[in-house]
Amino acid sequence: MRIVSISLPTPFYIGPVNVYLIAEDPITIIDTGPKTKEAIAALRAGLRGAGFMVSDIRRIVLTHAHEDHCGLARSLRDEAKNAEVFVHEWETGHRVGRLEYAEHRHLLVRAGVPDDEIAGMRKMYEGVRMYADSFDDHEYNPLWDEAELEFATGTLRIVHTPGHTPGSCSFVREADRTIIAGDCVLKRVTPNPILSPDPVDPSKRFPSLAEYLVSLARLRTFAPTLVHGGHGDVVHDYDELFHRYIRAINERQAQVIGLLSREGSSPWEISRAMFPQTDDVHRFLAVSEAVAHLDLAHSEGKIALELAGEREIYRLQ
Ligand SMILES: [Zn+2]
Ligand SMILES: [Zn+2]
Repeated sequence: MRIVSISLPTPFYIGPVNVYLIAEDPITIIDTGPKTKEAIAALRAGLRGAGFMVSDIRRIVLTHAHEDHCGLARSLRDEAKNAEVFVHEWETGHRVGRLEYAEHRHLLVRAGVPDDEIAGMRKMYEGVRMYADSFDDHEYNPLWDEAELEFATGTLRIVHTPGHTPGSCSFVREADRTIIAGDCVLKRVTPNPILSPDPVDPSKRFPSLAEYLVSLARLRTFAPTLVHGGHGDVVHDYDELFHRYIRAINERQAQVIGLLSREGSSPWEISRAMFPQTDDVHRFLAVSEAVAHLDLAHSEGKIALELAGEREIYRLQ
């Protein structure tokens, strides 16, 4: 089963995205790139280089529904007639937009984000949304944890690896312990646990960092020899990366706790103290990071949480 990595340009800060062609029947692509002329041209060139065309694609599988990964799914499906789309049910970005407005607004208000900042984040997101088409519920097939994608001479095991997003999935070829991990594993940066509503109860927040730690440990049980991430180079030494991530998460958690006082702070205030220079999309990522670490520290009993009206205030115990 031949796995061909194709790098596509994106208009986003993260840089190019990796998509993967599984060059075996049924011809499958894992992730698609954003909906831009440049990305589709690069994808066509990459497919051609491997001896294929878009019309050969039978399955479009998404690691998660961020625009840089899922943006072209609808156009590819339409061009490759009858290709099927697969994504985890907890991934909502393929529907009417990743930021279901009311639910996300509620999470941002709880995190202490001021109204004008929420409006700015919303506007910024409207711009990002243009890089992906949405799907209706009946237009995709759900990916199930522990199910398999079958190919003529092998299988890829589906492993639900929530954290970066609630419905993130990885794909494991057990024969040689190769993993395609989307944004769960990135060689150079620690992936951001994005602030998300809980898919089971959207009035709650998804415990993204706690889930992410479980996902990292779960991937480790496969003793991977090679991990293909959503951006950047392949990872040969997963154990080294695993320990580096754990160290980075522990250091960040200590930093967040160090910024708290007995009077307490909102996640928004902590995010501004951690990343004073950030603007635009990065303010949303910064508040996501602050919430994720405060949430984890609180669930581990290290800090206290109170509500001031709707807003959360974390403080030293
Ligand atoms: Zn992502
Ligand atoms: Zn990504």
